[in-house]
Amino acid sequence: MELLLIGLIGALFLKGSLEKDKENEKVDFQPKDTRSIFERIRFIPSPNFTVKENRKIDRIIIHITQGSMQSAVSWFKMTRSKVSAHFLVSRAGEVVQMVKLQDVAWHAAPLNTRSIGVEHEGYYDYKGKTNNFTQEQYLTSAKLVKELATRFNIPLDRVHIIGHREVKGVTKTCPGYNWDWDYYMELLRTI
Ligand SMILES: [Zn+2]
Repeated sequence: MELLLIGLIGALFLKGSLEKDKENEKVDFQPKDTRSIFERIRFIPSPNFTVKENRKIDRIIIHITQGSMQSAVSWFKMTRSKVSAHFLVSRAGEVVQMVKLQDVAWHAAPLNTRSIGVEHEGYYDYKGKTNNFTQEQYLTSAKLVKELATRFNIPLDRVHIIGHREVKGVTKTCPGYNWDWDYYMELLRTI
């Protein structure tokens, strides 16, 4: 009986550490493209922004487009949409900037003035079963956010890097239930 118990506990430990290893494998420590993220950003202007002199930025807000990259870019180009974001990251890891950093994008009121908005191409999944985000997308986004955080002296923690629905008073699903915060924060710490 004792032996059986010891064996069982051993097996449980082994299972636990195997699962940990599996998790660690997800972190890619060598992103394919080592150029600064700002060297490979396309700028497509949105008319939806507010000019604000010397704004103080201390939040980066993560969003999901709930549609294709192309449709999100088209939507943000339209005055009547009254929405925008500073950056969009496609599933292939392409980055488009639509609002200059010194300007206020319209993405997460009431925190727009103090934040940078980063959209991610993808769809909500209410059942939480499918992960719509690609590894390239997570990596590119993490590189972008890390450079922004360094530039504006924003701490890499979950108080300052937040999802849209974590903004007080917001009743949205964005960025959905599949955004892997543990993985993303680990990437931000390690790349
Ligand atoms: Zn959002």
